[in-house]
Amino acid sequence: ESGGGDGESYRVGIDTTYPPFEFEKDGEYTGIDIDLINAIAENQGFEIEFNPMDFGGIIPALQAGQLDVAIAGMSITDERKEIVDFSDPYFDAGLSLVVAEDNNDITSLEDLEGKTVAVKSGTTGAQFARDNEAEYGYEISQFEDSPSMFQEVSNGNADVLLEDYPVIAYAIAESELALKTVGDRLTGDQYGIAVLKGENAELLEKINAGLQELRDSGEYDEILNKYIAE
Ligand code: GLN
Repeated sequence: ESGGGDGESYRVGIDTTYPPFEFEKDGEYTGIDIDLINAIAENQGFEIEFNPMDFGGIIPALQAGQLDVAIAGMSITDERKEIVDFSDPYFDAGLSLVVAEDNNDITSLEDLEGKTVAVKSGTTGAQFARDNEAEYGYEISQFEDSPSMFQEVSNGNADVLLEDYPVIAYAIAESELALKTVGDRLTGDQYGIAVLKGENAELLEKINAGLQELRDSGEYDEILNKYIAE
């Protein structure tokens, strides 16, 4: 898809229902992550081939040797570091609670007793929900992609969802979804590009060098500004 010259070709796992990081527009993959990995491939002279999949399938596909790289708004966590090596961080994120626009009953985790919390499989949101389920007494309802999860709360089938705040801010601003974020941000984390642990030192070095080059040249800021209003 990108890159130049006679470099290696790498299979890149992406979650294409995750704007502004990755989505499809006019039949093309686009978004912050897509532009970043294309630009890194270009400046490091390797080729990439995109493999779209549900987020929950990405780390298993890396483990199974079906992918070489993953860029998917993926948060760097200690648990994942047991399985993958991450690039230098490239974006700050974290979880927020999201409810229907007309819901005035829920403003914090304390209000979730007996409620249904929608999460997306394999995410930090799903993990956070499991870790806090016993303390706050809610039910978890699991989805495979973010749009289905958003729909579930906007149509009233679930009371609340957990999502990364840059993603939900973009979804609320850019779509007709009647949702709003409530309360304080619950967590803070950073996105990284992942490769299978211990087997891809050379590729990871290229990714980090490429990312640094984009920061130094100003291209990194240009990519972010293209998708996110300041
Ligand atoms: N940042 C979250 C995670 O790493 C969600 C990623 C996503 O849904 N694409 O789990």
